[in-house]
Amino acid sequence: MARTQKKVFGSFFLPGPTEVRPEVLSAMTQPMIGHRVAEMEELIGQIQPRLRAVFGTQRPVYISASSATGLMEGAVRNGARRRVLSLVNGAFSERFFQIAQASGLRADPLEVEWGEGHTAEMLEHALSRGIYDAVTVVHSETSTGAFNPIADLASVTAAAGDVVLLVDSVSGACGAEIRADEWGLDFVLTGSQKSFALPPGLAFGVAQPSILERAKSKKDRGIYFDFLEFERNIQKNQTPNTPAVSLLYALKVQLDSIEEEGMSERLARHRAMAERTWAWCDELGLEVLVKERAFRSPTVTCVRCPAGLTGPQVAAAIRKHGFQIATGYGRMKDESFRIGHMGDHTVDRLEALLDALAKVLKR
Ligand SMILES: *Cc1c(COP(=O)(O)O)cnc(C)c1O
Repeated sequence: MARTQKKVFGSFFLPGPTEVRPEVLSAMTQPMIGHRVAEMEELIGQIQPRLRAVFGTQRPVYISASSATGLMEGAVRNGARRRVLSLVNGAFSERFFQIAQASGLRADPLEVEWGEGHTAEMLEHALSRGIYDAVTVVHSETSTGAFNPIADLASVTAAAGDVVLLVDSVSGACGAEIRADEWGLDFVLTGSQKSFALPPGLAFGVAQPSILERAKSKKDRGIYFDFLEFERNIQKNQTPNTPAVSLLYALKVQLDSIEEEGMSERLARHRAMAERTWAWCDELGLEVLVKERAFRSPTVTCVRCPAGLTGPQVAAAIRKHGFQIATGYGRMKDESFRIGHMGDHTVDRLEALLDALAKVLKR
């Protein structure tokens, strides 16, 4: 079976899930341990400081056995009171908006074109109506490659009074800088299968006291994503329910590697891969969907297909060269393709992908 053939690491460039190194995969075959025993508390205790470093926080980092969407729902159900403003610029930010509505809240989208980001001025203007108590935003919009200026947006919500900022950094965290405490991100979440380069199935989140205060007064925050329970348990290095034990083994091994590489080196590597991808687009006369450089994500790039080719055709053709990339997302499926230059990939392997991709596009 082709799938089990040994391959060079650096061939699977989807913007999630991303390629997982063999050492990380094999860590998951260790035997089970109970979840109310000292070994588990020790494991979570070793994981915590390293996770905090990724998020730039002194707060505990919640570990959820769910995909990232679970904590998006948790963010809204614990942190939003009445009326939500959702910054929408692609499929995942649209999902955040829909989650707010599906949680029984009034929500309004502040929409910009796919491929654009939101400025502090736009947010300031929208909040000046004084009707919102929560804002949802996506840091790195994986459907388009757009990158929102989270620190600037957080200053605006902070100045607006009793308004919290709920941040989805699913394809950002661990590939893009986050300083949750310094920037005043009320809640920020991510998933394991993007820049963390882990298998899917875990989500991580950091809540500031502002969110816990709100959670206390929310009677309909549910059980599985009740942040007060996450908080109470993580203080003891525990999780509210049975943790995904095997994934925690993988997480421990991966966080050790991340620490060894160094966060700033890791971020610089992501930046270098992104810059190389954009330069390659320029060389080939290809259009990056996000025009303004300041709004481009360091982890994912969406490229418009040259005339005569569709996203699915490009994705299929590159597989014959031993690489995988993604088509455009949703309504952009045909007109674009996406490269996930995140996780444990290197500029060298990205270069090999881009060489092969240049051949595919020239046909
Ligand atoms: C992948 C992704 C999600 C969804 O994550 P799941 O783990 O599939 O629930 C949400 N937001 C962004 C920006 C993403 O890239």
